[in-house]
Amino acid sequence: MEFQNWQQMGNEIVKRLTDVRQQTRDEIEAANAPKTAVTCPFCGATTIPDAQGRCEFCGGSVNG
Ligand SMILES: [Zn+2]
Repeated sequence: MEFQNWQQMGNEIVKRLTDVRQQTRDEIEAANAPKTAVTCPFCGATTIPDAQGRCEFCGGSVNG
């Protein structure tokens, strides 16, 4: 019984560490992803959003 609890706790820790690692990997992939030009809904320009997903011309959020 006691062992089961420790094992469960260990699995939980491993899972959380794995989640963090996966999240980091996703962020790296997002940073390396080819930038796609989108049409800004605010100023109508064709823009490649910056790291925050904002139009490079007017600063409006275009969300890739
Ligand atoms: Zn714009």
